[in-house]
Amino acid sequence: LFITFEGPDGAGKTTQLTLLAEALKASGYDVTVTREPGGTLISDRIRRIILDPDHQSMRAQTEVLLYAASRAQHVLEKIKPALAQGKIVLCDRFVDASIAYQGYGLGVGEEQVRMINQFATQGLVPHKTFLLDIAAEEGRRRLAERKQAEFKQGLDRIEQKDLAYHERVRRGFLRLAEQEDRIVLIDASQPVEVIHQQILREVRSLLQQ
Ligand code: C5P
Ligand code: MG
Repeated sequence: LFITFEGPDGAGKTTQLTLLAEALKASGYDVTVTREPGGTLISDRIRRIILDPDHQSMRAQTEVLLYAASRAQHVLEKIKPALAQGKIVLCDRFVDASIAYQGYGLGVGEEQVRMINQFATQGLVPHKTFLLDIAAEEGRRRLAERKQAEFKQGLDRIEQKDLAYHERVRRGFLRLAEQEDRIVLIDASQPVEVIHQQILREVRSLLQQ
């Protein structure tokens, strides 16, 4: 079972993914938790190239291909082997993020991003995707809070982009949710525990099928 979490920065993806992983492990399931861009040594190195704030001159085409390269390595080295072993794989972001961020945010277009990622993933599609939706402004507020709390140097190259960009990304995500049955749209302004229970219900019903 392959489950992904999507949504803008600051929506709470990582929090929910961690809570779900703990609940499933407590029920005896074998769970692999991973994230994009990253998840393997090579993918993490590509992640650093993508997010480096010094790389302001990176072109949209380059960015799409780097995400896809990071993802290809991740799928082949980690996700597919885990699924083949019967594990539940929980992944923080996947192809939908590329469609929203690069397809809609950067304006590369949905079709181009889909085509490149079809090659990168060998057609692997999540069984279920939780889209944590939050207003772009609220997402940025939460992000700023977290960065302060973590004493991080600052925002990564993508997080630094303006609000209009992040609003295009959000609209992209919402359009995807309308198109695809596998995507469950969740109002991420709700309390953490309420969201967790909603996700848990969905996953338990999936596991019973
Ligand atoms: O989810 P996480 O915060 O680890 O993602 C790192 C950065 O990469 C974020 O700023 C996110 O918005 C960006 N990203 C992106 N396109 C993707 C995946 C992530 O711009 N396909
Ligand atoms: Mg982030």
